[in-house]
Amino acid sequence: MTESSFDAHKPPPRELLDDCVHCGFCLPTCPTYQLWGEEMDSPRGRIYLMDLAQRGEIGLEGAFTQHIDACLGCMACVTSCPSGVQYDRLLEATRPQIERNVPRSRSDRLFRDAIFALFPYRRRLRVAAVFGLAYQKLRLERLAQRVLPPRLRATQALLPSVRLREAFASLPRRVPASGERRRRVAMLSGCVQDVFFHEVNAAAQRVLAAEGCEVLTPRRQGCCGALGLHAGREEHAVRNAKRTIETFEKLAVDNVVVNVAGCGSSMKEYGALLDDDPAWADRAADFSAKVRDITELLAELEPRAQRKPINAKVAYHDACHLGHAQGVREQPRAVLRTIPGLELLELPEAEICCGSAGIYNLIQPEPAAELGERKARNIRSVKPDLLVTANPGCLLQIGRYLDGDVPLLHPVQLLDAAIEAPR
Ligand code: SF4
Ligand code: SF4
Repeated sequence: MTESSFDAHKPPPRELLDDCVHCGFCLPTCPTYQLWGEEMDSPRGRIYLMDLAQRGEIGLEGAFTQHIDACLGCMACVTSCPSGVQYDRLLEATRPQIERNVPRSRSDRLFRDAIFALFPYRRRLRVAAVFGLAYQKLRLERLAQRVLPPRLRATQALLPSVRLREAFASLPRRVPASGERRRRVAMLSGCVQDVFFHEVNAAAQRVLAAEGCEVLTPRRQGCCGALGLHAGREEHAVRNAKRTIETFEKLAVDNVVVNVAGCGSSMKEYGALLDDDPAWADRAADFSAKVRDITELLAELEPRAQRKPINAKVAYHDACHLGHAQGVREQPRAVLRTIPGLELLELPEAEICCGSAGIYNLIQPEPAAELGERKARNIRSVKPDLLVTANPGCLLQIGRYLDGDVPLLHPVQLLDAAIEAPR
């Protein structure tokens, strides 16, 4: 038998590869197949490539890496597969194999290293926010669009309006429950979320407290490892997962609450990430079992706080890491429906990714731009007063392509406005 092209550390499991019956039901929901109509850029084609590599019939370099790199990791194929193929586990086993075994070009490696040297670090992001503000005040965007290479152009185009007060603000470490306490929860404040979307975190604390949760938000929390997990940087993911578990398990809470879809999905995967480490496997599984997206937690609690009406047509965008990866679709809609007067709109092609997908819109700017424009067209077609979505990456990506046509919010900000929780 030919030797596998994967190394021996957690290769894609043979039994998961064999689950695919090549029916093609996943093809219409795969964004890259929709864009290019190329079999090897579909879930079925990528599983076939993994199968060939596992049999040692192809190597990992060249076409294999190219087609796996082009995958958004959006997991729309997991939702649409009638055979229950766990493409998420296959991709998360394959990407670290590429990172370990396939040398990248110098410029690609440097760009990826720069992303990982900046985004998971809140202090560095705050320094970047200062430069970002100066850059926006000096109106250098047009010049940048002319002189920068595509990946850097994409990065600067996603920079949100920088507000330094927000970037340097800190959250209260403990917010008491309003009325009788129903849960004691700890909140992940995130990296990009903490610096560029402080208002979302602040709204989340107020809403949780108004609904009877005591909210603990540890100051010294770091990156949860989501970027590394989804990009195949296993060492980064493992190190940050262990630190996050250590930070939160000291707090003895009922739940760990997240308002970033990408972080929530990776924190729910800690159990699988650390299952081969006897010192961590049980701790990681216990931690993952406590993790809830904020809309999931709010849907578990009978609404208690009074809501005032918001008479608006609101389109809800399912972040892929919430809808496809965590299967959390009904809960955000149920939570939004507790607001009187609000009309919830569904989007055409709701299952198709907006092109954000972690760091995808930075490293694959062209397909990300096509998907961003397609999402913006679909949103405009339902004529909403505003759009809500539960992931900062989606807010930045969709905001870029809507270009001011429709205001965007996180669902918890809308709920906060309806509850008018005390500030
Ligand atoms: S991944 Fe699922 S839907 Fe896609 S071809 Fe395989 S079995 Fe069919
Ligand atoms: S994760 Fe998304 S882009 Fe990748 S194969 Fe599945 S549907 Fe296609």
